[in-house]
Amino acid sequence: MAVPFRRTSKTKKRMRRTHIKLRVPGMVKCPECGEMKLSHRVCKECGTYKGQDVVNK
Ligand SMILES: [Zn+2]
Repeated sequence: MAVPFRRTSKTKKRMRRTHIKLRVPGMVKCPECGEMKLSHRVCKECGTYKGQDVVNK
């Protein structure tokens, strides 16, 4: 089995991992109340989606 000739330096390891990052959580502004919400999700502030009240209380 092949063995690495040199230990990967901290810098090289970090440079490689710059591409591995947490997903950007697709935040958009709610058209109803202006709060930040996740796109394609019901707004948790006003309970609306696509301009209509989904959470009926
Ligand atoms: Zn809203």
